[in-house]
Amino acid sequence: MKEGTAQSAIYRKDYTAYPWDVTQLDLHFDIGIETTIVCAEMEFRLKDGDSADLVLNGSDLDLLVIELNGRLLAPDEFRIDGETLTIPDAPQHSALKTEVKIHPGKNSALEGLYLSGDFLLTQCEAEGFRKITWFPDRPDVMTSYRVTMEADKTEFPVLLSNGNQVGSGDLPGGRHWVCWHDPFPKPSYLFALVAGDLALVEDHFKTCGGRDVSLRIYVEKENLDRCSHAMQSLVNSMRWDEDRFGLEYDLDVYHIVATNDFNMGAMENKSLNIFNSKYVLARPDTATDADYQGIEGVIGHEYFHNWTGNRVTCQDWFQLTLKEGLTVFRDEEFSADMQSRAVKRIQVIRDLRSRQFPEDDGPMAHPIRPDKYVEINNFYTATVYQKGATVIRMYHTLLGEQGFQKGMQLYFDRHDGEAVTCDDFLAAMADANQVDLEHFGRWYGQSGTPQVQVQDRYDPARGLYTLTLEQHTPSTPDQQDKQPLVLPFALGLLDTDGHELPLQLEGEPDAVTGTRLFVMDKTRHEFTFTGIANKPVPSLFRDFSAPVKVYFGYSPDQLATLIEHDSDPYTRWDAAQRMAQNTILEQCQMRARGQEMALDGSLVKAFRGALSDLDTDPALLAETLKLPDEEYLSDQMDVVDVDGIHAARLFVKQELALELEPLLQQRYTSLNDGQPYRKTAAAMARRSLKNTCLGYLMETAQGEALANAQLEASDNMTDTLAAIQALVLKGLPAAATALSAFESRWAGDALVMDKWFMMQAVKPGSETLGTVRRLMEHPEFSIRNPNKVRALIGVFAMLNPTGFHAADGSGYAFLADFVIELDGLNPQVAARMVTAFNRWKRYDEDRKALMQTQLQRIADTHGLSGDVAEIVKHALA
Ligand SMILES: [Zn+2]
Repeated sequence: MKEGTAQSAIYRKDYTAYPWDVTQLDLHFDIGIETTIVCAEMEFRLKDGDSADLVLNGSDLDLLVIELNGRLLAPDEFRIDGETLTIPDAPQHSALKTEVKIHPGKNSALEGLYLSGDFLLTQCEAEGFRKITWFPDRPDVMTSYRVTMEADKTEFPVLLSNGNQVGSGDLPGGRHWVCWHDPFPKPSYLFALVAGDLALVEDHFKTCGGRDVSLRIYVEKENLDRCSHAMQSLVNSMRWDEDRFGLEYDLDVYHIVATNDFNMGAMENKSLNIFNSKYVLARPDTATDADYQGIEGVIGHEYFHNWTGNRVTCQDWFQLTLKEGLTVFRDEEFSADMQSRAVKRIQVIRDLRSRQFPEDDGPMAHPIRPDKYVEINNFYTATVYQKGATVIRMYHTLLGEQGFQKGMQLYFDRHDGEAVTCDDFLAAMADANQVDLEHFGRWYGQSGTPQVQVQDRYDPARGLYTLTLEQHTPSTPDQQDKQPLVLPFALGLLDTDGHELPLQLEGEPDAVTGTRLFVMDKTRHEFTFTGIANKPVPSLFRDFSAPVKVYFGYSPDQLATLIEHDSDPYTRWDAAQRMAQNTILEQCQMRARGQEMALDGSLVKAFRGALSDLDTDPALLAETLKLPDEEYLSDQMDVVDVDGIHAARLFVKQELALELEPLLQQRYTSLNDGQPYRKTAAAMARRSLKNTCLGYLMETAQGEALANAQLEASDNMTDTLAAIQALVLKGLPAAATALSAFESRWAGDALVMDKWFMMQAVKPGSETLGTVRRLMEHPEFSIRNPNKVRALIGVFAMLNPTGFHAADGSGYAFLADFVIELDGLNPQVAARMVTAFNRWKRYDEDRKALMQTQLQRIADTHGLSGDVAEIVKHALA
């Protein structure tokens, strides 16, 4: 924790290259939990000139020795100022040796070297390496690492670092040593070390070039039987990256280590990935289908970083999206190729709308390449990752698969082994395809979600149909003036029977059948189509061709036509979401006016049609039937009506359940066929629809019996969790029994117990705060474990609006207390939690005042970390 340091902002425009090359780096670790001694021998060569200040970064290090060119430095020959150590006027060739003492057992921030269970491990991205030793801890300083570790052989039989093992041996006193060498130059954020008593699962992969790679997953011994899906996902990732991108793995070994204590999802350290165990461990009885898919996606993501992130890395942290947006795009494509492309797209889009759109509309709005930050850890955001991936997808949409791959090839040809910028990526794409992407490049610098207003005009006499589109991006706290962006606009037109119309613009010789792609680069565009016999239904921004909010006055009939007939799965799903959203928000308004809520028949009719369609992929149908979540609905209101949205959404769900009960039951029964568990995409799709149907049926008289029967018969975590969650959400008496049986069965199993906490934290209503407080006293809860914090406090604050936003402000006071306490231990996770307050200005006056008070209380806390201070300051501004 950087206590009491008033940190100032760092600006992208201030970037200067590091004046030194690091030509050699030898690290020696004498490993211990209480104390680890780190000796670093570094050779620096000045790029230009005879001498210059040599500046290194370090944090919380006890400096024992510092030598320059073989001579101990006197205290007045260097200075330490906060996190920098400066040796003035160091000579052109400077061999520096330092020895420091660190205390991994006391490290609760989980950055640098720390203890998890019985083993030690590291997390260095973004700036954790400086907690290990003095070094130029910035991504543009790349060098080859040689790492020697020595430790007690019984306590730490496994000693791992990046690259290939080049030596090992025994030492007196029951100790041993291992040496690793990574031939690929890398920045310090990709350094990793693991030391402990871990068990190993091993497999092999033969690359397209004939290299035999040993794949090793290290876990705690009791988890050995939960690694097969992760291993399979790794093999699939390696093959996919060869097939789709022509990218081959470059070392003889690939390690994955799973830990229960991790701030993020996983980390792509060169050849030594470290994973939150949530994204490695799975067995049908412990992990849901969503967990399985998450594992596949994250294993793929970290593997794909080997090229997009490690071989070519970022010049500075402002360029984070260079590696993250691109790698998220790659993992999305991987998952789409492994499973259902349509379902994956919809899940990605739903996630972007629920998490990133609010960020763009909040106090921390920033472009995918930010211009300034105080604490870089606060910029591992949905904007940099998910919106960044959407920007990469737009390149792909504009250039096509072939053009995109040509651009990727040129990017690697030019920059392999370098630390580069988003501009370099854009230039490679532009040059490889000989197109001008300068205007497109505005996506990197502009924050906020563009809004597109669409109007149409039909001239029956001349058979002309005209669409007018205007784009406008509202100003954000970080940026007043916005420019028009390049928007790929994929369009289809349907006639009233749902048939796709051939599209012929005025002046074009021929009509083209199917989706047309247009490029909008101005504020306003007009498209006039000829030969249109009847007023058509526009299918806009197919496949979500640009990350925009689209406003068009669809009639219920038009939406019904899209839901039933459109060929594009996204637009079909989006039409159903629009119809559901309109219906829920209407109910919400009626409720606010004191009227009785009542549905017109359109949503019921559309959902009846969808449920009766037996040809559609059940997973896709499940997505269609899921009502927009409360967070997304809140986003559609000027002043969020917390209780109104909840009541209206529940009312709509109940009405749908009652109207469609026979059909829901039929689908449920046919899907609940008693077949034993299988891990196939088809089986997962069936479970997804089955449990969506169960969710609705819980609103009918038979709900409790169905959930109990499903729970009784279940042979997998997906069905078990769905049944218990359904009982808990409805507050049925069977819930308590089910929860306590689950607890007895899984006590001591950290990952599964996370689910147990989650199921209870998400239950709507103000009484849940009492449950959360009680659960914090549970022996399995620990404020020091980020997964537990996210499962209990994160879920309550982010996914339980009626609980967190209780009218008396109790949820707010609770979160503020918690954030203040956690900040003393783990500022990075505390900063995540405090973002739950970010959009406080969108609520009613009473709630606003209550949230502001708590934010102010946090801001006034003595010794607040820079992480939390930055978020709170923006929120209050
Ligand atoms: Zn990543």
